[in-house]
This record gives sequence, C-alpha cells and structure tokens, in this order.
Amino acid sequence: MFRAGALDDLAPETARLGSRAFVISTPGQKALGEHCAGLLGSSAIAVYDKAVMHTPASAVRAAVEHATRLDADCLIAIGGGSTIGLAKAIAFERRLPILAVATTYSGSEVTPIWGYTENGIKHVARDAHTQPRTVIYDPLLTFKLPPNVSATSGVNAIAHCVEALYSETANPLVSQMAEEGIRALGHSLPIVVKEPENVDARTEALYGAWLGGCVLAAVGMALHHKLAHVIGGAFNTPHAETHTVILPHATAYNAVAQDAMSRISRALGGGNAAQALFDLNGSIGAPRSLKELGMPESGIDQAVSLATKNPYYNPAPVTAEGIRRLLRNAWEGRRPE
Ligand code: NAD
Repeated sequence: MFRAGALDDLAPETARLGSRAFVISTPGQKALGEHCAGLLGSSAIAVYDKAVMHTPASAVRAAVEHATRLDADCLIAIGGGSTIGLAKAIAFERRLPILAVATTYSGSEVTPIWGYTENGIKHVARDAHTQPRTVIYDPLLTFKLPPNVSATSGVNAIAHCVEALYSETANPLVSQMAEEGIRALGHSLPIVVKEPENVDARTEALYGAWLGGCVLAAVGMALHHKLAHVIGGAFNTPHAETHTVILPHATAYNAVAQDAMSRISRALGGGNAAQALFDLNGSIGAPRSLKELGMPESGIDQAVSLATKNPYYNPAPVTAEGIRRLLRNAWEGRRPE
C-alpha cells in the first residue's frame, strides 16, 4: 500500500495474516505502536516497544519468548530498519508473517535479509520467510522523522542502489531501478531536511527507499555494505550514519566500475560520482567522518583485518592497503579525490 493515508488499510491487511497481532516498535515510536494497536482493536495482543539498533541477539531471545508466550500469529512492525529487523528475527524463529509499516528510508521492509549482532559481530543472512508479506508506505507517518534520521536513512537506501549498480549479479532492470532510486533520493532529501512536512518530497523519498530496498533484495552487495557491517558491529556506530560516511569513499574505491559511476553521476546531476555523494551528504547536514561517529582511530587496523578476512566480490580488488587508505579518509572525513 503506498499513499498518504495508507495506514487506514492496517486493520483489513492485518486480518489477512492473522488475528493475534504482536505489534513492534522502538521505545521512541511507542505512541505510534499504540495508535496502530488501537486501529487493530482486539486483534492486537501486545505493543512490544523494545526494538533497538543492530538487533542484539539478547533482544531477539527476549522478544521471541514474549511473542511465544502470548501465542502471536502475526507480527506488525511499525518503524525503521531496527523495528523491522527485530520482527524478521522473530519471524525466522517462529515462522510468523510480517506486515511492515515503513517509517524511515532503510528499505528493509521489502527484503528477505535479516540479521543480529552478537559479541561485536553482525551476522546477516537471507531467508524468504523473513520478507514482510505486506508493506504500508504512508508519507504522513514520516513527517516527524527527524532531519538527521531522514538524511542518513535516505543515504542508506542510496547505498543499496550504488552497490546494486556494480553488483556481481547486476542486471539491466535492477540498474534502471537503482539509478532511479538515487535520483529520487538525491532530489528529495535536501527538501525533506528543510521542509519535513512537504508531502511531495516525503513521497518521493519513500519511493526512492522502496527502490533501494527492492534492489537490495534482488542483487548482491559488495565492499561498502561489508565495511558498514564491520564497523557498526565492532564499534557500535549508528547504522545509517556509518553507511552515510563510508559511501562516498567506497564509491571512489570502486571507480573502476565505469558504467555505475556514470549512472550515479547522471542521477545526481553530473560530476564525479564519489564527490557528488560526498557533496549530497554536506547539503543534507549528514555526518562526514567516522571520527565524529565515535569510532576510535586505533579501530582502523581492526576494521581492515575484519573487512579483508573473507574474500567476497567487489569490482576493485580488496587489499589491506587500499582499505586502510579508504578508512583513513572516511575516519578523517576528507572529500574523495
Ligand atoms: P532505526 O529503525 O534504528 O530508526 C532510527 C530512529 O528513528 C529510531 O529512534 C526510531 O524510533 C526513529 N523513528 C523511526 N521512524 C520514525 C518516524 N516516522 N518519526 C520519528 N522517529 C522515527 O533506523 P533505520 O536506519 O531505519 O534502520 C537501521 C537498521 O536497519 C540497522 O540495524 C540495519 O542493519 C537495518 N537494515 C536492514 C536492512 C535489511 O534489508 N535487512 C536494510 C537496511 C537497514
């Protein structure tokens, strides 16, 4: 469901999935969770407001136990990637269907990708059962999404699009969607951060996020996502902000992927792709250095070793020396050359 006011569809769409709905939110979005429970009436058996960033394994165990005790038969995730991530982890364990009401631009609501974090390592896997059956996109619900979260979760969706363009499994249809996603987000995010209640910009940003999620679901990712997971898992830096800082540098690293670079450049109005992404971050007030996200300088070596441990596809060869240079630039917040 995609329209202003689409939350009106919540009750009939939930009824297709079950009659004992376990409603999930973050603590900050509890009021919205309760509003949704109100719309569901007696079909809502709980509002569980304990979703947190990076989906710690301990939080998953507690949520699974709670949903099992209440005999939930479907999961309603209202929020961003953290909330949807917790719902997916429960769905994986309990084989329950998810309805997601997406209120950020993470794109998680349309992917079968789920994960959790344990002992500083982020584990990510695919399982078709964790892909939400129904997604509600209601731009009105994003009016209160703070500018910094709008900006960084939007760049997280751009990152899905960028890596889809040079994916090992890229295809022409996905590349069209990815380029359009970068264009839609590149155009709407600067407006969204200045005018949070501009319904046209909010709608275009959600559309770009949907495209970002679709391409993430469709093709494999590469170096950028690996680095974001390694750094988020090891230093508990915020997910979307970490993506935002690294993206221009990972793009510069992969400049050898010329068709992808041309498409990114075209989508952002011209110029060097990596620099256009860096400048977009500046125009939306997003963070630019890993230093300001709290990653210690001494963590660069640890991140290099984690990022080069298991070989994975990337258009440019992944070398310790190259990754160290990339991370040093990202840590300091330099404009890519
Ligand atoms: P988030 O879900 O952590 O939300 C960020 C903050 O915004 C939270 O405090 C939340 O309460 C608040 N918020 C959410 N919606 C709001 C609204 N409409 N109004 C006001 N406040 C609101 O952030 P995120 O960037 O959406 O998600 C990050 C997580 O998503 C990470 O754990 C990441 O791994 C995961 N993720 C998963 C996938 C996937 O396909 N599996 C894709 C992207 C991200």
